[in-house]
Amino acid sequence: MIVAERKPFSEINEMTASYGKILTVGCGTCVAVCLAGGEKEAELLSKELQIARKQKGEGLEIVTRCVERQCDQEFLAALDKDAAEAEAIISLACGAGIQFLAERFPDKPVFPGVNTTFIGVNREIGWYEEKCRSCGNCVLGITGGICPVTMCSKSLFNGPCGGTNQTSCEINSNQPCAWHMIHERLSRQNRLGNIKVVMEPMDWRNQVPRTIVQPGYAERKAGLGK
Ligand code: SF4
Ligand code: SF4
Repeated sequence: MIVAERKPFSEINEMTASYGKILTVGCGTCVAVCLAGGEKEAELLSKELQIARKQKGEGLEIVTRCVERQCDQEFLAALDKDAAEAEAIISLACGAGIQFLAERFPDKPVFPGVNTTFIGVNREIGWYEEKCRSCGNCVLGITGGICPVTMCSKSLFNGPCGGTNQTSCEINSNQPCAWHMIHERLSRQNRLGNIKVVMEPMDWRNQVPRTIVQPGYAERKAGLGK
């Protein structure tokens, strides 16, 4: 899932200080699971903003909504009426959801309520760990299911770097060396030969926004065009 954390209240308050009608929108998927931007967090933020305005002797009309996924076109129409009436929108979705709202409501300022941080896993409630940097060319099949892009401080595709400190990374002794972990995992699976596979330099494709069009979608579109 995408993991995010709520922005400091002072930052959100400052960004939205000049607007008297605000729509706060939570997202019911990743950011809800990581307790940063779901329905409850959206309601809490709206209340915090209202209290802050009241303390300044100012009024604030604020509407709070939560959609299932802000990154999915089909859920955004439910916000059209509230967005039309608002002067500004606060989105508690990840960066993708925030941008999708900004695209749908181009006349309204859309402010981020969270900092999108990483793609990760839910170890326990409240404990999230980065696992993937969406490099676009997954090598987990070779590396025993351990991501060298995320886990190695130098994102080395061919490691270790030579600086491994026992089992730790030379950059941070609290961080296990990714390539030590990969060695251990492959050894356990009797696939240690993989460590000698020289991986080609990465053809980084993330300098421009990436798009995936699934074959079924392309076929359907082509069929509609006939
Ligand atoms: S190699 Fe790592 S960063 Fe790339 S897709 Fe796989 S898990 Fe994600
Ligand atoms: S010590 Fe290990 S994790 Fe750290 S940079 Fe070198 S190979 Fe990567």
